[in-house]
Amino acid sequence: MEIRSPLDGTVLATLPEHGAEEVGAAVERVRAAQEEWRGTPPRERARAMSRLAAVLARRGDEIAHRVRAETGKPLPEALTEVVVAAELLRFYGRKGARHLAPRTVWDALLFGKSARVEREPYGVVGGITPWNYPFILAMDVVTPALMAGNGVVLKPSEFTPWTALLIPELVGEAGIPPHLVEVVTGRGDTGAALVGGGIDRLVFTGSTATGRRVMAAAAEHLVPVTLELGGKDPAVVLADADLDRAAAGVAYGAFFNAGQTCISVERAYVERTALDAFLTRVVNIAESLRPGTDGSADIGPMVTEQQLEIVKRHVEDARSRGARILTGGTPAADNPRIFLPTVLADVDASMLVMTEESFGPLLPVMAVEDADDAVRRANALGYGLFASVWTGDANRGRRVARRLRAGGVSINDVLTHYAVGGLPMGGRGGSGFGRRRGLEGLDELSRPRTILRDRVGLKRDPWWFPYSARSLSLARAMLQWTGRRGPGRILGALRVLSPGRRGGGK
Ligand code: NDP
Repeated sequence: MEIRSPLDGTVLATLPEHGAEEVGAAVERVRAAQEEWRGTPPRERARAMSRLAAVLARRGDEIAHRVRAETGKPLPEALTEVVVAAELLRFYGRKGARHLAPRTVWDALLFGKSARVEREPYGVVGGITPWNYPFILAMDVVTPALMAGNGVVLKPSEFTPWTALLIPELVGEAGIPPHLVEVVTGRGDTGAALVGGGIDRLVFTGSTATGRRVMAAAAEHLVPVTLELGGKDPAVVLADADLDRAAAGVAYGAFFNAGQTCISVERAYVERTALDAFLTRVVNIAESLRPGTDGSADIGPMVTEQQLEIVKRHVEDARSRGARILTGGTPAADNPRIFLPTVLADVDASMLVMTEESFGPLLPVMAVEDADDAVRRANALGYGLFASVWTGDANRGRRVARRLRAGGVSINDVLTHYAVGGLPMGGRGGSGFGRRRGLEGLDELSRPRTILRDRVGLKRDPWWFPYSARSLSLARAMLQWTGRRGPGRILGALRVLSPGRRGGGK
């Protein structure tokens, strides 16, 4: 596969398309390395996370330049991927070991015994990732997987595999054993081979359509999956909002990375009385953004031709059905690969731009009567990734946020979720399930296992074979003990157990 830069078409790398055999071999190499890694104490793994964060700090510019060459995004956005990856490593470096530490459980039913709940890694985690954030989306699999004691085989998108190839090198530089992270390259077939290639756990990030197919394939092998899928995130702008901040935030959320962000703002619902003032502001912002391919531009080229075509189709559909394009609506005059930041008004709920993921720099804005109307429209689609609410009243913001069907909601904010290592991310409905990042991301890639030990050593426990009348009264006493509260539970149990009471063996 020739990997070409969307900036100028130069060939960045020529990479193999790995087939099932090579994928299987990669899984086996990672499995062998993981056998040792799983025995490393979590505290040691946490130290490795901190060392890897330091490697990113050292090589951040180099990584960002590779991300930029492969995706075309402005340099500050490329560097943001490295920052966000380092932040998660730092977070696990500080909090990961304690979270993974065994937990002792005590209960009266454990009299004479002890029990611990440990978290064990799955083994080999497969990570299938898309092209919009080639570094952070891969690191979002690698970091929690390694911290939890797993190894990883990554299958990056066919459009942006070059960045992911750096990851094994960075991991090695942090003193983490070789072969714990491997990258296989190729197209959808290579991803399919990974799903059936003997992995123990799968994290898939990509479109809803592919996610559905991947989950069906994983079911054949009973491989548990996390699905991080597409979204159509709504922004609800209430009339009492600070409209300067709301417009700036919504525009940032819609146009960051040229709109190719899973949690980008894809549609805005604005209370009618604030509509004109909001539109004036977002149009001004959109027109102030500088498209280009130099490192300091605000809007870079679309990563793939295919996505550019989807964006054009959505705009044409809206235009032909009566939407007004207030600004943008076409590619840049001097670069057909860059789509101009676009604000659409007079959109309705039947247009593609309001129902399907555009994944481009489009901001369709619709007037709503009030917050209820906005919530109803925001919740009308099957997606449920993220959402934002803009209001001057924090309590009102929380009330509206709770009613929005989404994996996370920002109030008077946008995208910050993703930058904070301690916050879990994920969707519901058509946006998938499972969580990544945060402590929940460690739970996702490890499983609880109970180790229970008898410490007394009786010849037999009273409830073991052979059964007798005493066995039944014991079971009845346990029911009283577990079903009641306070002194009633003791009295209830004793009454059943006391000789001559109704503990008979009938
Ligand atoms: P795709 O679903 O097209 O591809 C995602 C990955 O799946 C790619 O690596 C792709 O390989 C691979 N793949 C394709 N077919 C198969 C198959 N049959 N079996 C296994 N793997 C397969 O998504 P895009 O790359 O177009 O990414 C954009 C989508 O990702 C958007 O919908 C976006 O919302 C979503 N996304 C979701 C995020 C979230 O956190 N929820 C984060 C970022 C993006 P190849 O590219 O080589 O075909």
